[in-house]
Order: sequence, then C-alpha cells, then structure tokens
Amino acid sequence: MRKTLYLKFVLAYFIFGIFGYAIITTFVPSMIRDRLVREKANDLYSEATLIANTYASGLYSSETTLETVKIQIDALSIYLNSIIRIINPSGLVVMDTSEPLDLDHTTVIENFDSTVTGSSYYIIDDFFQTFDEDVLSVIAPINNNYMVKGYVTIHYGMSSIEQSTNGLLTISYITLIILFMLSLIILIFFTEMVYVPLKKIIQATEQYASGNMRHELQVDNDDEIGYLAACLNFMASEVARTEDDQKKFIANVSHDFRSPLTSIRGYLEAMLDGTIPTESYEKYLKIVLNETERLTKLTNSLLTLNSLNTMGMILNLTDFDINDAIRSTAASFEGTCRSKFISIELVLTGDMLFVHADEDKIQQVLYNLIDNAIKFSSPGYSIRLETSEKRNKIFVSVKDSGIGIPKEDQKMIFERFYKSDSSRGKDKKGTGLGLSIVKEILTAHGEHINVISTQGVGSEFIFSLQKSDINDVMDD
Ligand code: ADP
Repeated sequence: MRKTLYLKFVLAYFIFGIFGYAIITTFVPSMIRDRLVREKANDLYSEATLIANTYASGLYSSETTLETVKIQIDALSIYLNSIIRIINPSGLVVMDTSEPLDLDHTTVIENFDSTVTGSSYYIIDDFFQTFDEDVLSVIAPINNNYMVKGYVTIHYGMSSIEQSTNGLLTISYITLIILFMLSLIILIFFTEMVYVPLKKIIQATEQYASGNMRHELQVDNDDEIGYLAACLNFMASEVARTEDDQKKFIANVSHDFRSPLTSIRGYLEAMLDGTIPTESYEKYLKIVLNETERLTKLTNSLLTLNSLNTMGMILNLTDFDINDAIRSTAASFEGTCRSKFISIELVLTGDMLFVHADEDKIQQVLYNLIDNAIKFSSPGYSIRLETSEKRNKIFVSVKDSGIGIPKEDQKMIFERFYKSDSSRGKDKKGTGLGLSIVKEILTAHGEHINVISTQGVGSEFIFSLQKSDINDVMDD
C-alpha cells in the first residue's frame, strides 16, 4: 500500500507529461496553422483589395501604364514575400510578379473561376494547377465603372506558413519541457513533505503495535502531518509511562506484600519447629497479628485506589458542613489519641461551614491526614485541625508537631508507595498510599493540597475546598 501511493503519484506525474506531449503534437499544430493561415489570408486580402482599388483600377482606366503598375506591384510582392497576379475575367494573366512583362507570350489560366474561394475569402491549393506546391491564394475584384474588369490575386507559399508553425511548435515543446521540469518540484515536495514523514509514521506505528513504545518518531513538519506525528509521539510516551507506572506499582505491591508474609511465615515456622518456646507464643502471635493488620490495610488502600481509578472518580457532590465532618473524623481517633497521649485541638471558623464536595471522599482525606499526623507525632504532643475562609474557598489545615518531612521528600510524598526514610522506623504499618489517595480525591474535585514541613518541628497539610452558597443564605 505504501509503495503504491508513491507509485500512483509518479504515475500521475508521467501521465501528465504524456498527455501534455500528446496534446502538443496533435491539436496544437493544427490550431497554430489555422490561426496563421487566417491571419495571413486577412492581411493578403486587404493588400489585394488595396491593389485592386488603386494601381490595378488605374490600369483599366488607362491612367497608368502596365510597366508602372508592374514596378509597383513587384515591389509589393517582395515586401509581402508572395506572388501577385492581375488576371482578366477570361483567365488571361495580364501581369505576374514572378515573371517579366511579355505581351507576346501571355498565359491563360484554364477554367479560371473567380468564385473558387466559395464562402471564404481564401483558398489553399495549386491555384488552377499554376503552382507546383500548395499556396494560400486570395482574390480581389478590380472594379471600373461598376463592372468587374479583372482580379488581383496574391499567392503565399504554404511552406512559409509551415515554417512559422514549426517555429511556434518548438516554443510549445520547450515550454512543455520546462513545465515538466518545474512540476518535478511538486514530486520532490510530495516526497519530502508527505511521503517521507508518512513512511516514518507508518514505521513508528508498526513499532508501537509490536510493543516498542520507546521508539521516537522524528518528524519536523510544521503542518498536519507534523501534528499527527506529535500526537502519536505523545500517545506512545503516555502508554510507555502507564506501562512503567504499572510495573512500578506491581513491584511495590509485591514488595509490600512479601515482607509481612515473610515475617509471618518465619514466626509461624519458628513456633512449629520449636525455635520459639510456647511461653513466648503470645508475644510473637501479636507480631503476626500486626503484620496481618498491615496486609489488611494495604489491601484496603489498594481497593480504594482502584475504585477511585476505575470509576473515573464519580463524585457525589453535596453541600455539607466541613466543621462537622472534621469533628466526627477527629472523634473516630479518640481511642488512638488516648493511648498515644495525643490531643486534638479544633480551631474551626464559625459554627457551621458548608462546602460543596463529595462528603465521603473528603472524610477519607481527613482520615488519612489525621492518621498520618498521629502516626508521626510523639506522645504528649497535640494536633491542630483548622478551617478558614478566603473568597469562595474554604481551607482545611491538619497540623502536627511531629517528626516533619525532609525538604527533598516533600515533592514525592504524594506519589504511590512513597515513604520517606525517616518515617520507616516509626511507621512499620505504613503503605505509602494514604497521601496518593488524598491527592487523587482532591484533584478530582479540582482542588489543591500543599505541605509545609520542617524536620523535627512538624508538618502542616492544607487543602482547599469549594465554598457552598448555603453559607451566604445562612448569613442572610
Ligand atoms: P503512609 O503514611 O502509609 O506511609 P502516606 O502516603 O500517607 O503513606 O505518606 C507517605 C509518606 O509521607 C510517609 O511515609 C511519611 O514519610 C510522610 N508523611 C506523611 N504525613 C506525614 C506527617 N504528618 N509527618 C511526617 N511525615 C509524614
């Protein structure tokens, strides 16, 4: 298919050349010849009429002598490159510029007929067999006293017209060759601008189809083809990125599943083979239980992430009181806080503060952020949950005085499975998925989350939400 597109274009190019040549060799010569004959006949007829009305009529009215007229029309015949004759109606040639004046040896044209030209004013033949070759002849009557006294005929050799025709044809051939050469530019243009990039695009799509998404498509065109190539490049890089993400994701999931499973297996084997004595069972079973909790948490987070992705995050947007959502989420951490001696301080704007968002999902965001704040805070510290209002936005802040996040990690913490090194020791149950869930939920809402953190001082996560119009109604 690829070859034929190019072949078709080359074929069209040669058909164009052959047609051009055929037209120039068939129609053009006869058109040029007809045109030249008509123009010449027109000129000659005007000349013949002029001679008939001037010199020749003077001859018949005996105003001038034969010799004088002969000298004049001889000069004219040289000027017109033709033969001029004065013929009587009977066919007697009174004067012929191709011969000297000889009254003793006159020529009579057999069957001379002045109407031989018919409806036209010229004729192409051997003029009553008086020429060896075809000549273009015009006939003009010589009137004297309202009577036709004779005729002026002018004869122009057709070979001269053929010569002129051939001259003009040569110009046409040269023009055709130049045009053919110039149209080569179109062929080169097509090759460079369409065919070569198209070939590259086809090669690239073949590579993509065979799974090589890293193949780089190099097309520099600044047109639709260039745009198509750029789109394909983008598509391939996106697919490659998704593939990479998937591989990374599976590697992370497997790693995170393997380590608790290995430790569970290790402890259980040690219990079975007696390495761990029966009296220590309780301690090690608690560790095993912890590890299973970690696995459950990981599975739940994966399921949450998956549901967020597969449903393309369908949001159930309602107007709800964010202060109330914060209060109830904080309350669910009461037990954990008590056991860790951590207090939660609420600094909420107004009694009720309505936002327009998906309540369940925002509760999940709050849960993950508060969970982290507690996890990374030392016993005895407090966590501050704050709401504030700016223009049509509501800002929610979750602030702790915990271990903080190193500067270089702050950009990465929202990525899936990312756990900063400093947190690993403290939070063995962490999955590295909590903040990526938070980020995805807020992105789906068209909102943002920011982190301000200093290592050893604490962290503050602030996210925005759309303020609900209900607040204004309630203010009124
Ligand atoms: P997880 O908490 O399950 O490890 P997250 O995605 O919630 O996963 O958090 C990613 C990482 O970000 C954590 O491992 C931790 O290093 C860091 N992080 C998150 N919140 C805090 C916080 N409040 N204080 C300090 N570090 C935090």
